[in-house]
Amino acid sequence: MKSKIILLCAIAYTSTIGFTMGQSSSTPPKVSPMLMEPEMTEVWEPEVAIVTPAKVLGDAPSDAIILFDGKNLDQWVSQKDPSKPAPWKIINKDHLEVAPGSGGIQTKMKFGDCQLHIEFSAPDLVEGASQGRGNSGVFFQNRYELQVLDSYNNRSYRNGQAGSIYKDHAPLVNAMRSPTEWNTYDVIYTAVRYKEDGRVDYPARITVLHNGVLVQNNVTISGLTDYIGLHNYPEAHGDDVISLQDHNNKTQFRNIWIRKL
Ligand code: MG
Repeated sequence: MKSKIILLCAIAYTSTIGFTMGQSSSTPPKVSPMLMEPEMTEVWEPEVAIVTPAKVLGDAPSDAIILFDGKNLDQWVSQKDPSKPAPWKIINKDHLEVAPGSGGIQTKMKFGDCQLHIEFSAPDLVEGASQGRGNSGVFFQNRYELQVLDSYNNRSYRNGQAGSIYKDHAPLVNAMRSPTEWNTYDVIYTAVRYKEDGRVDYPARITVLHNGVLVQNNVTISGLTDYIGLHNYPEAHGDDVISLQDHNNKTQFRNIWIRKL
């Protein structure tokens, strides 16, 4: 009698296991959906910071750092000797002009992720060709160049014209205005990140609008802007200055502001 009971229990147990296993592989367990209210997906805190936009599109919003507004070059120094003032010329208390041969200029402050607005104009006197016409550049973290060039009726290699990430990414289109007009760059820059061992965690990325036209769509920057050779990231670094290039052309700049992101 006792052995019969044990046998029946064993059969019952085995059947239950089999039934349960069969059920779990073919029929998902029923889960009661959580009752949701509209408020449960609303996030209120912390309140989003208020920024007052400029009255004129392209002018600095309330939280921007003004890098140049025509008054002075207090935010800049010489690239050849950062202990010295920036050697470029302010004209008509309005804009800045490269002093050819004096070297580039760089910000006193260092930046990583940022939103930059900068306006530029090629020299009114059209001379030179290809890379010799209206050449300058904006270097993020003092290393990665967004090319400035007079690309109005001026062919050059496509990954070296205005709006290019120099010798890395050609612009999507050529949105250049004539040398008697001003151009704008609006840039969203995401700095390169490094791992603790110094290897690149993820490379820098950049989005650029040239006169409001998208020319770089969140592209990956391949590395240090080298004139010769493929670009790469030779050494880890942190935030760094933004620099403007002296390429022996009297390129002009105005209305430069930046927001740290
Ligand atoms: Mg350049």
